[in-house]
Amino acid sequence: LTRLYGPLTALSNVRVDVMSALVSFERVFEVLDLAPGIAERPDARPLPAGAAKVEFRDVHFRYPSAAEVSLASLEDVASLDRTVTDEVLKGVSFTVEPGRMVALVGPSGAGKSTTAMLVPRVYDATAGAILVGGVDVRDATLQSLRDTIGVVTQDSHLFHETIADNLRYAKPDATDDEIRTALRRAQVGDLVDSLPEGLDTVVGERGYRFSGGEKQRIAIARLLLKAPSIVILDEATAHLDSESEAAVQRALAEALTGRTALVIAHRLSTIRDADQILVVDGGRIVEHGTHDSLVTAGGLYAELYRTQFAVIDSPLPDATTFPPD
Ligand code: ADP
Ligand code: MG
Repeated sequence: LTRLYGPLTALSNVRVDVMSALVSFERVFEVLDLAPGIAERPDARPLPAGAAKVEFRDVHFRYPSAAEVSLASLEDVASLDRTVTDEVLKGVSFTVEPGRMVALVGPSGAGKSTTAMLVPRVYDATAGAILVGGVDVRDATLQSLRDTIGVVTQDSHLFHETIADNLRYAKPDATDDEIRTALRRAQVGDLVDSLPEGLDTVVGERGYRFSGGEKQRIAIARLLLKAPSIVILDEATAHLDSESEAAVQRALAEALTGRTALVIAHRLSTIRDADQILVVDGGRIVEHGTHDSLVTAGGLYAELYRTQFAVIDSPLPDATTFPPD
């Protein structure tokens, strides 16, 4: 179990890294029209309309080293011998069929968020291939990738602008009615209606401050407005207050219905809903199957189930009665 938990400080550092990576992921990918370091091929073509199948074929990945990223200062030359970073993904293969939900589960640092970030080309695989709708993502136009894939992370980013402007990043020509519908489906319509300036309310530091759960629901509204065929979700591990939590769950259910979903799942309820569970450890898929088959197999999933998922779903588990089945 030390492998799962590690020293507390090490774990919280990893979490900070991952969260900041994800913030910039959604920010860069969903909101700003940029994919740094990722170029579109001159002969790139759009993904087929409604492309919904996701395939990983023997994908390997290393993060670029500091020396590769920047040779701006002389000090970096001293670190050139560290150009090769550890391989974070070591041959990952799986398929998400159109309309299905696949859950990635595993210990912190296993490579789940990295896997998710490769689909919309936040980074490119160092070996192997990722296909969306049968097309290698490196051969697709960035615009079509962006239109096809929606991302919701645990720390959703809102700009210091009006609510309407924040949603129009997803669909610049959206009408106020479309925006209201998206907000309602994301369980945040009543709240926005209750604000004196409604859709024109400015959010952020010097404006209206949404709670974490409210921000996440606004981000889900943005995704509903965009209506991508593929959704990538990095589920929150931190407890929102329970009212907010239930609303976020309802909003996510709306967002996932009828779409292909790749979900980094921490809640047992989400994991149980998945068509397939992939258990990731040390950059590899070490087990896959349904909840029941994996519990029966008695491997890493069964261990995570006993020690983590049950605990997250029920803040005060009675150790003698879990697992509940
Ligand atoms: P998980 O989401 O399963 O917790 P991650 O995919 O975030 O795991 O991380 C997998 C590994 O990659 C970890 O060892 C982590 O420290 C490392 N890592 C994550 N983000 C970066 C980054 N931006 N640069 C370098 N290494 C990273
Ligand atoms: Mg992660």
